[in-house]
Amino acid sequence: MAEGRDCDVAIVGGGLAGGLIALALARQRPELAVLLIEAGDTFGGNHLWSFFDSDVAVADRWLVDPLICHRWEGHDVLFPRFCRHIGGAYQAITSERLDAVLREALPPERLRTGCKVLAASSTAVILAEGGRIDARGVIDARGPGNLAQLELGWQKFLGRELVLSRPHGLRWPIVMDATVEQIDGYRFVYCLPFAEDRLFVEDTYYSDTRGLDAGRLGSRIEAFAAARGWSIEGVGREEAGALPVLLGGDFEAYWRSGGNGVAKAGVRAGLFHPTTGYSLPDAVRTASFVAALADVSGAALHAALHAYAGAAWQARGFYRLLDRMLFRAAIPDRRRDVLERFYTLDHRLIGRFYAGSSTLVDKMRILSGKPPVPIRRALAVMREDLRA
Ligand SMILES: Cc1cc2nc3c(=O)[nH]c(=O)nc-3n(C[C@H](O)[C@H](O)[C@H](O)COP(=O)(O)OP(=O)(O)OC[C@H]3O[C@@H](n4cnc5c(N)ncnc54)[C@H](O)[C@@H]3O)c2cc1C
Repeated sequence: MAEGRDCDVAIVGGGLAGGLIALALARQRPELAVLLIEAGDTFGGNHLWSFFDSDVAVADRWLVDPLICHRWEGHDVLFPRFCRHIGGAYQAITSERLDAVLREALPPERLRTGCKVLAASSTAVILAEGGRIDARGVIDARGPGNLAQLELGWQKFLGRELVLSRPHGLRWPIVMDATVEQIDGYRFVYCLPFAEDRLFVEDTYYSDTRGLDAGRLGSRIEAFAAARGWSIEGVGREEAGALPVLLGGDFEAYWRSGGNGVAKAGVRAGLFHPTTGYSLPDAVRTASFVAALADVSGAALHAALHAYAGAAWQARGFYRLLDRMLFRAAIPDRRRDVLERFYTLDHRLIGRFYAGSSTLVDKMRILSGKPPVPIRRALAVMREDLRA
């Protein structure tokens, strides 16, 4: 570490993206002094991050394997016209585990919690409590920048861990139970069986608006459990969110909104799946990418991460087009038909879709056939696309 500096790399925001970068640097670049700065009392916030095996490259497994708390060797999807079991592992990571693994991997002086950052430049961080941290390079991973720069729909949810009086009988996660009543757009219930009498149930829907009525979603979870004959004895963790679904927007303006000239990672860098709002696959890839960079000066980190996130944005125009089809062309009540058709496709194509790595053939396959959207509305979306 050069004299006069507090660290080599200061990472602002100890959530998913910042935490994974810190872990990757600690393991692959032990010569670098890394400082992870988090406003909350623990790293990771309150999350249960789930992902498919196919979301993470084999070469990056070492980064996520120690974080996995639950693993299932397959999952189900349920639609009115069919149920389908899909093989391949599905896994979940909790914030608590991310916090614990970070504290094992980095010495205490490299981890700061309860430390709010007021401002970050490419080489310095200003703390709310007073004082500044000078670094060779800074990465800002404080979560979303100014989302007003983006054209968005929303995936909203409330999830609750339920403790039941009797076994629920589920063997696999249900990543989409779309047999439920469709309300305010595409709605489905997501279930993760943690133990035979304990499961996580999330009421989720794709909506045009961001607002979330937690009380109403809570009642829907209770109704879903009752309809399945599950009697709830207690409630464990609970999480709610409104994840951005990207329809379009200005990548450069969004990037600048998170701090001009500062390297960024995670949702702040626009590195999330346009259709699901999930960012774990990107966060793993980004951490691996950062750990392989020879130059970690502020300017070099900014240039590298800006180019990396910009390339990901460019490559994902197809998903934004699909999102516009879903939100603009599909009639809200019939959005479920779009997903139902998607889930009839080959499971490897589905895996690549969620990993954000669809091939050209996948894209043609997804768009081919008779789309379950009114053709006039689909053409209007396409025309807008050509004009943009
Ligand atoms: C409830 C919920 C569940 C989700 N589930 C999944 C999932 O299953 N799979 C998936 O892939 N994605 C999931 N997502 C979407 C996305 O992956 C997460 O939002 C993910 O945590 C985003 O990562 P991030 O690092 O960009 O932001 P965050 O994880 O939110 O991290 C940002 C961190 O910065 C800190 N911070 C903010 N401001 C400051 C400041 N001024 N000073 C210091 N620190 C600051 C915050 O406290 C936070 O810890 C979920 C999102 C939510 C909200």
